[in-house]
Amino acid sequence: MALDESLIEELGIGPVWVRRGMVSVAPGEEERSAAVQVVQTAETPEPVETRQQPKPAEPPPPVAQPESDVPPLDAYDDLPWTDDLPVHAEAALVEAPDDVHTLDWDALAERVANCERCRLCERRTNTVFGVGDREADWMLIGEAPGENEDKQGEPFVGQAGKLLDNMLRALSLSRESNVYIANVIKCRPPGNRNPELDEVARCEPYLQRQVELVKPKVIVAMGRFAAQSLLKNEASIASMRARVHEYRGVPVIVTYHPAYLLRSLQDKSKAWADLCLARNTYREALAALGVEQGAEKGGL
Ligand code: SF4
Repeated sequence: MALDESLIEELGIGPVWVRRGMVSVAPGEEERSAAVQVVQTAETPEPVETRQQPKPAEPPPPVAQPESDVPPLDAYDDLPWTDDLPVHAEAALVEAPDDVHTLDWDALAERVANCERCRLCERRTNTVFGVGDREADWMLIGEAPGENEDKQGEPFVGQAGKLLDNMLRALSLSRESNVYIANVIKCRPPGNRNPELDEVARCEPYLQRQVELVKPKVIVAMGRFAAQSLLKNEASIASMRARVHEYRGVPVIVTYHPAYLLRSLQDKSKAWADLCLARNTYREALAALGVEQGAEKGGL
């Protein structure tokens, strides 16, 4: 483990990374802001009724409408009752295309390349389908393409990709030979914002099919968004780490996104512990299948 740690520690610090959609607020700033609001409210005089208001006119009697079983056309444009549903139940209301689970690799890649199922198709440069060994035992899943991924059409490029590749190398893994890497979302959200729930729901059938085709023995979910999307929860990454979860029958280990690790060096050791848990989970999966040690496809 000392050698593996040193491999990780060799990595330089990349550009400062800020979680999409998050704006840092200094401690106490919220309280100050609230105090200002209270003061402003207190200083604003209440409007005073100075004269009697005219009595509102009586509403006209309802006009009888012809009975019809057909709802108005705009009845489906908005589903306000979904506001009360748990977020993942709301996302489940998006209808999946019928035939994605029947597509082979080439047909699936072509379907994604031409996909217009959500608004993210409008500003993408490339779809980011996935990369690596399509029969790998290990599958890594991230959240959504960033700027470089959008330009190159490949997940995890740039500094974060280099860090990921070095961490994988420490486990005798690589995207060239025995790992498959994909994202939950295949098109870049504009301005690197977080994907919306309906976008996740519309794109998820593609990831589901990729998992069906790869048939991994272990999945590593990288980053809170990817983990929440796979596990259908809103838990913190701290509470999801260090446990074995499941996605469609495959064990899932949750760890930090490599881009986060670039600026949070203190969490690199935790990420390494997560990968060791993934390795042990992989070994157990092989043992359960009766695969002898040394005959495994991926990992130490
Ligand atoms: S993000 Fe997914 S669902 Fe949306 S357009 Fe791209 S491939 Fe299609």
